[in-house]
Amino acid sequence: MEYQDVIELAKRRAIFWPAFDIYGGLSGFFDYGPVGVLIKDNIINSWKNVFINVEGMVPIDSPNITPEEVLDASGHTKVFTDYITYCENCGEAYRVDELIKMKDPTFELKSYDYMVQRMQELDLKCEKCGGKLSKPEKFNLMLPTKVGPGKGKQAYLRPETAQGIFINFLTYLRYFRDTLPFGVVQVGKGFRNEIAPRQGLIRLREFNMAEVEVFFDPESLIWPGHYNEIFNDEVLLLPNDGREIRIKISESMENKIIKIQPIAYFIGLVQRFLINIGVDKNKIRFRQHYPEELAHYSKDCWDCEVKTSLGWIEVTGIADRNQYDLKQHSEKSGVLLVFKKKLDKPKYITRKRYVPIENEIKNIYGKEWKAVFEMLKNLEYNDKKPIYRNKEIDENCYRIEIYQEEIKTEDVIPWVIEPSFGIDRIFYSLLEHNLYRREESGYKVLGLKPHIAPFKVAVFPLMPKDNLDLKALEIYRMLKNSGITAYYDDSGSIGRRYARADEIGVPFCITIDYETLENDTVTIRDRDTTEQERIHINNIAKKIKESVEKCMMSI
Ligand code: AMP
Repeated sequence: MEYQDVIELAKRRAIFWPAFDIYGGLSGFFDYGPVGVLIKDNIINSWKNVFINVEGMVPIDSPNITPEEVLDASGHTKVFTDYITYCENCGEAYRVDELIKMKDPTFELKSYDYMVQRMQELDLKCEKCGGKLSKPEKFNLMLPTKVGPGKGKQAYLRPETAQGIFINFLTYLRYFRDTLPFGVVQVGKGFRNEIAPRQGLIRLREFNMAEVEVFFDPESLIWPGHYNEIFNDEVLLLPNDGREIRIKISESMENKIIKIQPIAYFIGLVQRFLINIGVDKNKIRFRQHYPEELAHYSKDCWDCEVKTSLGWIEVTGIADRNQYDLKQHSEKSGVLLVFKKKLDKPKYITRKRYVPIENEIKNIYGKEWKAVFEMLKNLEYNDKKPIYRNKEIDENCYRIEIYQEEIKTEDVIPWVIEPSFGIDRIFYSLLEHNLYRREESGYKVLGLKPHIAPFKVAVFPLMPKDNLDLKALEIYRMLKNSGITAYYDDSGSIGRRYARADEIGVPFCITIDYETLENDTVTIRDRDTTEQERIHINNIAKKIKESVEKCMMSI
């Protein structure tokens, strides 16, 4: 279905809606309601299942507010920008690439000059007043804030969750007992002061991210993923040389379209995850960034794009962040974010050290001899004469020894590959891809898979009388107590109740009728086939749990 169908349903059935509505709203902010939160949490849980449970990565939960020095080091305060243009008449602001794309959907930001050239060719004017547009300039997307009273400390709402992972690298290295590769994941909010957010959940100023940072030895860029056969999967690739090819992942590596194994593996994994949660498999492609498009930290990046009625939208970016972030934080914080790599053969370096001569020191320094002795023993050699209490130490107190130091390890900065997911965009795509109209009734059906559906089952008494309602409430409680999200509905005809459940994607409805009171059986209706069967109440929970478990990606 189309954008408008999704928005209409979302508002009517408490899935999501523009935030701060009663005060006129604030562009780029949305609320999720009871049904939306359940669906979103199920997407996130499926994501965690893949990356934490199956792939063996580990989570972190770091603060949303980030002090300036972290984002200075990561480069965000300087270069986390989009191109903006202003109307010289009314002052309205536009994001340049979005404005061009409205007239030329194929536009790619290949270079600054090309962008200006397209603005002129398309004769772009202010959408509001037709005024002349200014030359594009860079606009920083971060939202600043102050921490603490008075002048406070300059900080920002984090533009990505990744930095919280990088700066804690050493803790995770220890956690993984100094062995690479390993992956750390974070699900949380990201904040970007987008220039002109329209398009609902697609461009938000506060959004839900699920990020993965995988740390490798730079000389061994191989992720030992769980799904060995993923390289046989076919993907639709758009490398930045202009081609569009459907190809097996293994072949794309042989042909050097995808250059490194982890990017290839994560392309396959992203596609499997999206299909598993219900994204249409024919509407997924992977597009490589043009050099001008690359984020400042990135050497290569493949966006996973999903086709919607709004066009192709990026739902995940798989970026080669190389050693950039760890290098920057090592330099700026003074803490080396490196791992000690074992050398194949130990190295020997010639060094010098002081060897204290006890008797001489005792003669000269008397009672203080021990302090001088220890100082010399521990002093790192340099060309200057050693000093004690502001005076050079007598040369007879020590000799200088030349020795060979054995070096078994070297400091190496890990290489990082990052698949970064936008949960809101995935959420929106799922709704659009799974919403359809039932031919016979004309009602909307949200065909979500059982593991993503907000409620797994709806419980209806045929009529709210003759103890049918009491029996239905008993069954409803029984299902909830066994951990199944269920909802109860006793108003209106059964047909209306089915339609209401279909609209929010409930895969099963059970109806308690007079026969239930006699033999403890109910009818269970399948949302997709609309077929009904009779089932004993003791078997309902098992059937529903099995349908959910069957959908989860497994080890
Ligand atoms: P990025 O770090 O720019 O690659 O962003 C990671 C993911 O977050 C993207 O693939 C998008 O799915 C999502 N994302 C980025 N910006 C926004 C936004 N303004 N609103 C919603 N989702 C976003």
